[in-house]
Amino acid sequence: MTGTPPTMKVVVDETACLGTGQCAMIAPAVFEQRDDGVTVARDTEPPQSRRAAVREAAQACPVAAIRLSEGSEPSTPAAFGYDDLPALIARMTGDERHAFSSSSTKDVLWVLYDRVLNVSPDRTDDDDRDRFFNSKGAGPMAQYAVLTAKGFIRPEQLDDWGTWDSPLGYVPDRVTVPGVDLSSGSLGHGVPIAVGVALAWRIQRRLGPRVFVLIGDGEFDEGSNHEAMVLAGRMGLDRIVVVVVDNGTASHGWPGGIEQRFAREGWATDVCDGENHDEIFTALTRDHPGKPLVVVATVTR
Ligand code: SF4
Repeated sequence: MTGTPPTMKVVVDETACLGTGQCAMIAPAVFEQRDDGVTVARDTEPPQSRRAAVREAAQACPVAAIRLSEGSEPSTPAAFGYDDLPALIARMTGDERHAFSSSSTKDVLWVLYDRVLNVSPDRTDDDDRDRFFNSKGAGPMAQYAVLTAKGFIRPEQLDDWGTWDSPLGYVPDRVTVPGVDLSSGSLGHGVPIAVGVALAWRIQRRLGPRVFVLIGDGEFDEGSNHEAMVLAGRMGLDRIVVVVVDNGTASHGWPGGIEQRFAREGWATDVCDGENHDEIFTALTRDHPGKPLVVVATVTR
């Protein structure tokens, strides 16, 4: 694949389109409205010169009806392992690296994508796949590196991350990055959104997919997490697994008290060494019938 331009594929979900026409105004060469108001993609594989406008249109769509996949060809399937992550992370340079956030989450992310999540680069639109929400989206280098190792992102895309025309922003974007299920960066949203997803699945009687959420212990200070935690526990939303990477940087609450607070609200709980892959795997895959599961993964950095 080296030297081969990446592809962009555009799909409009016609059942979701509200017919606002915003996308056709932003990228008229790619989107057009039919007589019934629904928008379709007239160019499903736009050239490089049109892609910035297409990404802008996708971000402007109020119902996220425009789905993009870029460079999702598994150009290097299984070419990278855990030991390659530092080199992949090092390809991302600049002032917005949030290196500590990356190093504290690297092991949990690896175990999730390597051994736990039911996802793959060729199934990013499969409704029955697991979902992963990186709620602490500021500092996505470890997630981008793991997604690269697993074939969702091409390694050369890491080199210009955060630039104007790159799909890889300083916070992850579900519209432009294959394998990203939540556009995040504003803290405290992952668990509440997971509650909404799990409720929707319950209404639809869909028992297959699970939604995993990564938050930080500092992020757990955000009050929205607590409202969502209480509701998920009370409603027994057992399709939810939250992993809290705890490096002792929370400002509120009692140190070491995260597990007990979830347990008090009816969650199944576990605690593991956040750098021990077997412990992380065992904790994330334990049975938790009728209850959501929280795993507190302690790390030292
Ligand atoms: S912006 Fe979204 S909802 Fe509006 S016409 Fe385009 S696809 Fe449809």
